[in-house]
Amino acid sequence: MTEPILQARDIGKSYGSGDGRFDALKGVSLDVHKGESVAIVGKSGSGKSTLMHLLALLDDPDRGTISIGGKDAKSLKPRELNKLRNEDFGFVFQQFFLTPNSTVLENVTLPLMIAGVGTRERKARGMAVLEQMELADKAKNKATDLSGGQKQRAVIARALVNNPSVIFADEPTGNLDTATGAVVEDILFSLNKTQGITLIIVTHDVDLAARCDRQFFIKDGLEAVPDAETAALMTTGSIDSAAEVRA
Ligand code: ADP
Ligand code: MG
Repeated sequence: MTEPILQARDIGKSYGSGDGRFDALKGVSLDVHKGESVAIVGKSGSGKSTLMHLLALLDDPDRGTISIGGKDAKSLKPRELNKLRNEDFGFVFQQFFLTPNSTVLENVTLPLMIAGVGTRERKARGMAVLEQMELADKAKNKATDLSGGQKQRAVIARALVNNPSVIFADEPTGNLDTATGAVVEDILFSLNKTQGITLIIVTHDVDLAARCDRQFFIKDGLEAVPDAETAALMTTGSIDSAAEVRA
C-alpha cells in the first residue's frame, strides 16, 4: 500500500482544565491512504468531530503526532498550513456554514477569494462546480433561499472549488431527510470513485459507514471494537443480517 497521506499517532486532546477537564481523545492512531473512503464511527460525544478536526489540521492535539504526506504537521509554517486547509482540504459540515445573505456563487467561491484568485477565474470555477452539483441556476440566489439538500450540494461545491485531495465530512447527512441524504451520500462517493478524492466521513449512521472502504470505530475517546450487530452490518452491508445477529 502507498504511504498514508494522513497519519495520526497516539493523539490526545482535552478540553477545559482542572475539575472541568474532559479528555475527548485518549490516544488514537489512524492512517488514511490516498483515494480511500474512511468512516469515523461512534456514538454522540465519543470524540469523532475532535478526531476529524485534528486530522484536518483545524486544531492541534495536546499530545501525539499528525503527519501529512509523511511530514509532521508541527513542522509546517502557518502559510503552508493555511494553504493545505484552504486548497488541499474540502469541508462538508452538518450545519452547512453558508453565509445566508451572500449569493450561492459568492459562498462557493470563498476559498478562491481566500486563495487570491481573480474575479473572472473565480466566477468560471465557481460556475463549473455549481454545474457539477446541478445548482448553476441558483448561482445568484441567496444561500438562505436554498432547501437543505441544495445547501449541502452548495457546500460540496465549495469544498470542490479548489480541487481538494481530501474531503472531510462531519455528519454530512445529519440535517437532511433520508432521500435527500441519500443523494448527498451518492455525490460524495461518486467524487471518491471518479475523482479519486480521499473521503473522511464522521458519522453515527452505520449504513453510511458501511458504504466506506474502511471504518474506524471510536468510543469514549479510544479506538473501539464494534458490537456484533454493527460488525455484521459492516461486513455484509445488510440490515437483515444485523437482524439475524439480534435474533
Ligand atoms: P462527537 O463528534 O463524537 O459527538 P466530539 O468530538 O464533538 O464528539 O466531542 C467529544 C467530547 O468532548 C464530548 O463529550 C464533548 O462534549 C466534548 N467537547 C467537544 N468540544 C468541546 C469544547 N470545545 N469544550 C469542552 N468540551 C468539548
Ligand atoms: Mg460530532
